[in-house]
Amino acid sequence: MCAYSIETDGLTKKYGDCAAVNNVSLHVPGGQIYGLLGRNGAGKTTTMKLLLNLIRPTDGKIVLLGEGCHNRKNYYRIGSMIETPAFYENLTARENLEILARLRGRHRRDTIAHALRAVGLEQEERKLFRAYSVGMKQRLGLAAAIMHEPELLILDEPMNGLDPIGIHAFRSYLLRLCREKGTTVLISSHILGEIEQLADWIGYMHKGRLLEEISFQELCRKNRRYAAFEVSDVKRAALILEKQYHILDYAVFGKNSLRVYEQLDQRAQINSGFIRAGLAVSGIELRAGSLEDYFIQKENEQAQCLSEEKM
Ligand code: ATP
Repeated sequence: MCAYSIETDGLTKKYGDCAAVNNVSLHVPGGQIYGLLGRNGAGKTTTMKLLLNLIRPTDGKIVLLGEGCHNRKNYYRIGSMIETPAFYENLTARENLEILARLRGRHRRDTIAHALRAVGLEQEERKLFRAYSVGMKQRLGLAAAIMHEPELLILDEPMNGLDPIGIHAFRSYLLRLCREKGTTVLISSHILGEIEQLADWIGYMHKGRLLEEISFQELCRKNRRYAAFEVSDVKRAALILEKQYHILDYAVFGKNSLRVYEQLDQRAQINSGFIRAGLAVSGIELRAGSLEDYFIQKENEQAQCLSEEKM
């Protein structure tokens, strides 16, 4: 297996002057679940459509499973669900899946039963598609995506419309696929809580850009309890932390903010150290970060960078 199941370099898609996807370099490791997060309009669906060759990039490169994304062989190795899946209205769920299985050519005898079971539709397989509820249609879309046991699954907001039991069952199914069969999953969502129970890696998109690619473990590490300092000179403060207090586990945000993750019970002494060195300390607070806070902070930093570029 290649190191990355999906790799893009400088991927860009422009519609007129608007860059829906702007210079995105994704790295999705093989056999892992990668959550592509971002608010509405961040560029997640456009990125997935580019990966699946449904639209052409304005610029950039894509490698899927070690091949260029135009390679037809990949069609059998990838399963996907983008936006609301389309099926024949007057056919049953089973009949719709049979057509797809025939198109794909290679499948086990129990493929359809297996896929319907995986999404909890085995009792509803004889119902016409037009009689399906929104959530049932979504489940059928998922069945179609996983039916041929692909090596790579690309799923755009797959939990939309599923009830809580359906969400739980589908999440467990994806985890099993990944852990037992080594399937790679790229899954998008605008709900962080939905992804945090699944993903090994997170990519965060904002206004077409990939602001951060980070392992979930690292993300959790960054969101531990910390002491937040607002200081007049963050570079000197960092030097004091390292030289005077032997603290290396800290992070700098912008020109004035500092987060210290270790020796939290020493924060009053650290504060005194800063003041003795002539720094102005305008705030000190003990906080526990949430993942939402983390990404809001990222967005603010990006907005600040862009406004500084314009000045
Ligand atoms: P959501 O969570 O709402 O599904 P998203 O992150 O998937 O959002 P995209 O659908 O990729 O976002 O859209 C990204 C941007 O590209 C948006 O500003 C959207 O209006 C724009 N866009 C997408 N498709 C087109 C198109 N065919 N023509 C013009 N603009 C488009």
